[in-house]
This record gives sequence, structure tokens and C-alpha cells, in this order.
Amino acid sequence: MAPSSSSPSSSSPAAGAPAGASPVAAEAAPAPARPASPPATGAGALLVPVRGVPRSALLDTFSDARGAGRRHDAIDIIAPAGTPVLAVADGHVEKLFDSERGGLTIYQFDPARRFAYYYGHLQAYAPGLAEGQRLRRGQVIGTVGSTGNASPGAPHLHFAIFRLGPERNWWEGEPLNPFPFLRDGTAPR
Ligand SMILES: [Zn+2]
Repeated sequence: MAPSSSSPSSSSPAAGAPAGASPVAAEAAPAPARPASPPATGAGALLVPVRGVPRSALLDTFSDARGAGRRHDAIDIIAPAGTPVLAVADGHVEKLFDSERGGLTIYQFDPARRFAYYYGHLQAYAPGLAEGQRLRRGQVIGTVGSTGNASPGAPHLHFAIFRLGPERNWWEGEPLNPFPFLRDGTAPR
């Protein structure tokens, strides 16, 4: 990714001042000290969707093979069964789906309905979670498990991002690699 290439504004180039303090909700994450971490995760930055997992612990498994001719198209985040799964961003629950491969899954849409965030192999949904429900970034939406085709001995969250088509169908979209967004604390646009 190239650094910002936006044309500099001619008016008052406030030297080095980070563009205004965000008035939006404070970061809920307890952010441990990470001296060399990338700066500036904006309010829209994706959270790591498993509580307690640092960005630095993530592995890029997007291009791994999964069965005959299939690509993983997702990231697996290893964690003990029962670990809280967090909404990576604001949005709403578009679909709760129990599938053969994914097990208990959640499809979340972002507020602009441009992206779907997919959480798979859940042990359970958060109590009361329902389709259409609004979600706040960081909200607990379920727990890590090994439902579907995940190995019972290796519970993990399968997390994917899809760029939605014009139909906004939860079951179809262009897979985007979640890894760079989760590692760097950015969001797809
Ligand atoms: Zn997976």
C-alpha cells in the first residue's frame, strides 16, 4: 500500500498535527503498550474479532488450500473454546446461519452495506442475538468454537470479509483478505 497520496491542501498546513481529535466513542480496547505499532487506527479500524488476541499474533492463512480446489479466503484465529468473539466494526446482523462447513455463523453488514463480515465455527451466539440487530464495534456476538468442519481439538474463529455486490446478498461477494486490515488496524474501503 502506498502512503497517502492525497494532494496537500493549500490552506493552513498545520504542521504534523493529526487531523482533529475524533469525537466518536472512545476505544474500548485496553491497548497494551506497543511501541513500534503502526499509528492511527481510526474509529473505523477493524478490531481483532477474538478477545485477548493481539494483532501481532495473527497469521495470514487467506491463500491456504482447503480441500479440492478451494481456497481458504479467510483468516483462522486460534483461541480456546468459549473465548468471546467481538464485532470488528459497527453494523448489523444480516444473517444467522448454521451451515455444514461453517457451523454456527454470523454475517454482519457494515453500516453502508458495502462489506460483509463473516464469523464461523462459533460455539454459541451471544444470548439474544438476532437478525437485523444493530451491532457496535467490540460488542460480544458469540464465542469461539469448532462447529461445522473445524477440528474439535482445534477451536478457532474463521473470519472472512466479502465486498458485497449490488444485490447486497449475504451469500455472495468478493472475498478480501482480512489479514492486512486486522494486522494494521485499518478497514476496507
Ligand atoms: Zn478457516
